[in-house]
Formats: sequence, C-alpha cells, structure tokens
Amino acid sequence: MARRVHKKQTKISPKQKVKKRLKKELALVKTRKYKTTYKDIKKYFNLINTHVFHGKLAPFNEILIKDLARQNCIGQVVTWTWKRKGTQQFWLEMLPSYKDKKEFVDTLAHECIHLYQMANQGDTGNHNDMFYSFRPKLNAIGLDI
Ligand SMILES: [Zn+2]
Repeated sequence: MARRVHKKQTKISPKQKVKKRLKKELALVKTRKYKTTYKDIKKYFNLINTHVFHGKLAPFNEILIKDLARQNCIGQVVTWTWKRKGTQQFWLEMLPSYKDKKEFVDTLAHECIHLYQMANQGDTGNHNDMFYSFRPKLNAIGLDI
C-alpha cells in the first residue's frame, strides 16, 4: 500500500529569504578584497531600503567613491545645508575597496541608518539609541552595523 507522504511545508519569511540570499552572495566572496561599484551600492541600497526601512528611504542625493583616510572612516554621510533656500542634501561617501563584500554591505547599511535618522527623523545622526534600535533589524537579514 502506497503511503502518502505529506511533506512538511516550511514557510520562509521574506526576511529569512533575504538573509539566505545575502549569506550566499556575501559568503562566496568572503576573504576576497571587494572593489566598490556604483551598481552594487544601488543594488544593496534598494535591498536594505526594502527590508529594513519599508522603502521609506529617499536615495542619497549624491554618491562618491573616494579615499577616506583623512576622515579616518570607512564610509560616511555628508550633510549639505542651504539655509537661505531651506534645502538639505545627503551625500554618501564610500571607500574604493573593502576587506570583503560583507564589510562593504555592512558599511552601506550603517550609513543608511544615519540617512534615516537625519532625513526621515530630523535626528542628529549620532550613534544613539535610535541608531542602535536598527541592529536587530539588520541582524535579522544577516547584516551588522
Ligand atoms: Zn556611524
């Protein structure tokens, strides 16, 4: 008699799916130096925006890939304010290369939180409670800040 096998269906949440995808994409290139591209910045910005910020982030006004040795950092958001016009812009600056692709995506996610703090919440953009409140959301998709 044939026994009917019921396969247990495990539902994977969108976040777990992304986590799996990131793990695959980033593990393959681990320990290999990563060279920054505008294409990847856009790609992972969109992914982080969708899965961490519910699509609420407006894109950076400008993206620069440049040496940041003098700034002593591996990524930053620069705020430009025109007081008379009452406008503000947020520029992303990223290094030309990173230790590996994971470090690149983690850094981008870190800067996205600063963008959200300042552009969406009018916050200082410091490493404060609001900043760290995003750590679990990043961890949920396999990233860290
Ligand atoms: Zn920071």
